[in-house]
Amino acid sequence: MKLNAVSKNLHPRNVFRISRAARAEVRNIFVEISDEGITGRGEASPNAYFDETAGNVQHFLESAAPFVAGLKIESVADIQRVWLEVWPWLAPSRAAQCALDLALWDWLARRKGISVTELALGRPSHPVQTFCTVGLSGESELELKAVELRGFPLIKMKSDSMADLAPIALMRKRTGATLSVDANGAWEKVDIKAISRDLAQLGTLFIEQPLSPALDERMPELLAASALPILADESCVTLEDVERMPGLFSGFNIKLVKCGGLTPSLLMARRGRELGLRTMVGCMLESSLLIAAGAVVAQETDYADLDGAWLLQDDPFTGLPLRQGVLAPGSGPGFGVEPAG
Ligand SMILES: [Mg+2]
Repeated sequence: MKLNAVSKNLHPRNVFRISRAARAEVRNIFVEISDEGITGRGEASPNAYFDETAGNVQHFLESAAPFVAGLKIESVADIQRVWLEVWPWLAPSRAAQCALDLALWDWLARRKGISVTELALGRPSHPVQTFCTVGLSGESELELKAVELRGFPLIKMKSDSMADLAPIALMRKRTGATLSVDANGAWEKVDIKAISRDLAQLGTLFIEQPLSPALDERMPELLAASALPILADESCVTLEDVERMPGLFSGFNIKLVKCGGLTPSLLMARRGRELGLRTMVGCMLESSLLIAAGAVVAQETDYADLDGAWLLQDDPFTGLPLRQGVLAPGSGPGFGVEPAG
């Protein structure tokens, strides 16, 4: 199998670029695996939070090319085996592992002429209702975003250490959506009992990551005091982390680039269910390719937060439209998306 990795800059659409927290551009990695005249594609959105950059992801992938050259992939079990065996070449980059893993899933499904969902789960995809995220914004920005999100069923509001409820109340007034609030670890000084009650009254479904992962030992106390379920994001990164979640969180957010791709994401979703936890699959700013892989995981989770490609003005892949907050995965082959243009 031949491996080729390139990086590409992606840019968010204007209306979502004006917020304080939004980045003007991200640099993602795109991988192609070719064999038998079939090309499988994968992507990674490197995250600085985990010390990942496009440069190091590309470097690790290129160093794994000799290993990939000797691969023979005929079954899902082969992909699962490769996921483990390639790690010495890719460590510590879960993003690089994700990009390669996705390319192998896409390649094998295309070789079999089916979708990745059929290959992984033995059934076709159903449409996915997804949260769309509103970053920290001033009031006039919020008004613009509320217009953009009219009719969407699920909206996720970012919060910070101020824990200001005004933006959430405004979104409540302007839309009929169910809300969630992502504190990104900034609520160390916030009274969770009081704020969770207020948020519940505003139609909030759950709170995401109120404290930084370093403060996980405070979570049992917060969970007991909270009127709302609390989901982990930064506190639950890999499959091993899932085992620590009961008693700390009500559930967790799975991100493919953080855990190393579709292979571990599906295991995390399954294990979360076994443990009686709520599961969600999330994303970064990423193209429809990585979102399509997230949509496979979403077939197995309670919630999805897969708005990353919808936020882009220059999505390099097509085939997975997001309309009124609903993703409609195609029937394949592979991830069902193709390079644009
Ligand atoms: Mg989050």
